[in-house]
Amino acid sequence: MFLQDYELSEEEKILLQKVLDGDVALRKIEEVADPLTSVKIRRLAIQEFIKLEFEHIQNFSLDVEAISKKNIENMIGAVQIPLGVAGLLRVNGEYANSKYYIPLATTEGALVASVNRGCSVITKSGGANVRIFEDEMTRAPVFKLDSLERAKKFYEWVKCPEIFEQMKEVAEKTTRFGKLISVKPFVTGTYVYLRFSYDTKDAMGMNMVTIATDAIMHLIEDEFGAHPVTLSGNMCTDKKPASISTILGRGKTVVAEVIIPKEIVKEVLKCTPESMFEVNYSKNLLGSARAGALGFNAHAANIIAAIYLACGQDAAHVVEGSTAITSMELTKYEEIHCSVTLPALPVGTVGGGTGLGTQRDCLNILGVSGAGDVPGINSRKFAEIVASAVLAGEISLIGAQAAGHLARSHAQLGRGKF
Ligand code: NAP
Repeated sequence: MFLQDYELSEEEKILLQKVLDGDVALRKIEEVADPLTSVKIRRLAIQEFIKLEFEHIQNFSLDVEAISKKNIENMIGAVQIPLGVAGLLRVNGEYANSKYYIPLATTEGALVASVNRGCSVITKSGGANVRIFEDEMTRAPVFKLDSLERAKKFYEWVKCPEIFEQMKEVAEKTTRFGKLISVKPFVTGTYVYLRFSYDTKDAMGMNMVTIATDAIMHLIEDEFGAHPVTLSGNMCTDKKPASISTILGRGKTVVAEVIIPKEIVKEVLKCTPESMFEVNYSKNLLGSARAGALGFNAHAANIIAAIYLACGQDAAHVVEGSTAITSMELTKYEEIHCSVTLPALPVGTVGGGTGLGTQRDCLNILGVSGAGDVPGINSRKFAEIVASAVLAGEISLIGAQAAGHLARSHAQLGRGKF
């Protein structure tokens, strides 16, 4: 034990000793010390436990006071992820209509360079056209009914317009911004799942819809007497790959497209539209189908993960984002039409991790930090940019595979062999 080596006040030494002796639980340090001291004491306790001194995780600029209230428990420090930018990327959306530098946090060498190349192709080709088709966040509680007859009655009851109005009123009392859009029942035996969909404006909305749905569950219990088993019955489906999310959508359903002239394919990607078509068809479509994949794309998750980490999104929602479909078709004018369809892209510009300093900086690069002037427009703008960046990543990787450059660029950029 090297307790005496630390620069601690007498009070801090006593507290650390209590933590080491088990008299103060790790999770209860904040009850007896301020947030910053608590982080330090907990980190030192962990150091003692592993008998090693940290060199890095104590260095951070995070506002501990703020984040320890809503973003993290048992905090001991922070990890850093390198941040790069790709771009400029021209986006022609309904909400994002400009050129953007895309912030990407990653440790995967070659990723930023690859997206950067895709951005160059898209921007030279006039930009990515992008549209949002659905925008709703879901929560699906499950109820247990006494009999099949009751299950059928309940199934019909929740579809009554007047019941929906009651549920909407109860749900919307819990939030200033969230709006209940629909409820869709599903039955399995005598269990009935209700998939509630909400417009959550600029919030990704998982906490918002969970709180609102909880209020509806109480209403249902009181009015129908259905027994609620759990607030989340997995028909939502949160953070798991699921066909329901790819079919009905979850978060934003977004499509981005670009038409790339043959000359630009040759100049930047060093291949041909025909070879890109062949790779996309055999890999993203046939290969994915043969593999039973839910995502029919090359590496959408790569771009989504890097933007999500940079911009304070819930990283686990990369799962939903990974179900993108990439399509590439030859046009009669010797161009290639490329598109990505993202059925389920949960994003937000308020709430969650979006308020953290470095993450807010990244959202500011895109001009989408915080609430929009009209609620909802910032998160929609952000979704359009993310989809366009995914398109850039897909074009670059399919281009590299069509040109046979994949291994070479990873050897150079991922292993530092220049
Ligand atoms: P949140 O940080 O819990 O809440 C965001 C709140 O910001 C909204 O509810 C709203 O408050 C307020 N707000 C201010 N301006 C707004 C605007 N323009 N548009 C929309 N809301 C605005 O965030 P959240 O998005 O609901 O939830 C995200 C968090 O949930 C993440 O940390 C994620 O990791 C976590 N999560 C939770 C669950 C779960 O089951 N609970 C599951 C997955 C992830 P009012 O509603 O009061 O008006």
